Amino acid sequence: MKTKKGEIRVHRGKLDELTLTTSRLKKVEERRETVPHDLKKMFPYCSHDEFQECRDIAVQLYEQGYRPEATRPPKKRPRKQLINKNRFILTNLPKEKNNSISRWWVGIRDSLDTWKRKTRYHQRLWLPLEMSTFHQKELKKGQVKSLELRYKRSTSEWWVYFQLEVLPPSSFSYSVNNSSSLPPAVLGIDLGINIPAVGVLLTPKKKLTSKEIKFWYTKQWNRINHRYKLKFSRLQRKAALNDQSGKKHQIYRFLGYLRRRYRNVKQSYIHQFINDVVRTIGTYAQMYDLFVVVGYPKNVRKGKEKGKGKSTRYFRRKLHQWNFSLVLSLLRRALILRGFAPHRILIIDERGTSSHCSRCGKEVSRPVRGLIHCPFCNYTYHSDLTGARNIARKFLSHLFRPRVTTITDYFTGQKFSLTHYTVCRGLSHWLQSQ
Ligand SMILES: [Zn+2]
Repeated sequence: MKTKKGEIRVHRGKLDELTLTTSRLKKVEERRETVPHDLKKMFPYCSHDEFQECRDIAVQLYEQGYRPEATRPPKKRPRKQLINKNRFILTNLPKEKNNSISRWWVGIRDSLDTWKRKTRYHQRLWLPLEMSTFHQKELKKGQVKSLELRYKRSTSEWWVYFQLEVLPPSSFSYSVNNSSSLPPAVLGIDLGINIPAVGVLLTPKKKLTSKEIKFWYTKQWNRINHRYKLKFSRLQRKAALNDQSGKKHQIYRFLGYLRRRYRNVKQSYIHQFINDVVRTIGTYAQMYDLFVVVGYPKNVRKGKEKGKGKSTRYFRRKLHQWNFSLVLSLLRRALILRGFAPHRILIIDERGTSSHCSRCGKEVSRPVRGLIHCPFCNYTYHSDLTGARNIARKFLSHLFRPRVTTITDYFTGQKFSLTHYTVCRGLSHWLQSQ
């Protein structure tokens, strides 16, 4: 039907006459028992209202100009379809009852056919498996997470692929019993831009030695990162020039490829770095009753925007590309997966930690970026090192505050009772000026 303006309107009443029966009407004369295209027959579990709702949406789309394509798009290759562990059972029949073809069976639940008899009932597709001893050993390595059915065309066989979640071996001994006989220690970690992380271990000893200071440094990464950044900017400039002059080019395609490669390289470096940190924490944990405190650089980007302060363009770029949040969450996850108790890794706000002297606690200025000079002690320190030491000190000072019973993780918002940290009170000599 067309209106006066030439727009297409669909008559909804006519559609009803074609598709919907009305056998429940009060007046017998107005009932419609049979229709040419009965929707109720096609979808017996849908209600009358649902049909009308769906139809209204379809009609609206049609009136607004949407036309489904007459020819179907070419068929794509089947997508990887993982079946969640809730949807299948893997069973092993005992040897006596083994009168069927195979001992191992996998039953996959049908996602559509679920109904109630007396209890909930699912229909399953039971598949026999040819499981060798190698497969059985592999399955015992972890927890089965999901399953995938694949057809191997070359041998015309069906294969079942199981995906396992394998946890790394636990490397921290005191995860089960909370107490230990080892001396307490607090490891403060400060994340930085040029140096990814600096750690300072505060132990019952009264002096810091080189054993307790750790720089996690990836010199190679800075170089590789810089090289990629140069390549990107060069290509982008070239692409923009070509766009302006109307030239045809394929630089964007190459840029996309380069970005993907950069992401992969970056990821591998981050994981390498995390592994490095976790390994040293593991060695410390064998010697001490260890608590790890990491600073969260929340307001670090504030006041360093364009035109503010003395920051250069290159520094700003580095600052905003610095993914400390990712590093923090990965570190946390890696430690907890290896059996580190959640209250032992704590993330606190690092505000003010890099602008105070870590020896006397007085506020000091930073003459050069990366160095701190304290006029009261007449000492010059590395600023990240001071930051790490101050983060550990900030955590310790929290324990001695009056009327405070919990400490909050800045990252996850979890609250931990201070009773977990009573051992750390033995480290109070680090709070006094030395
Ligand atoms: Zn000082």
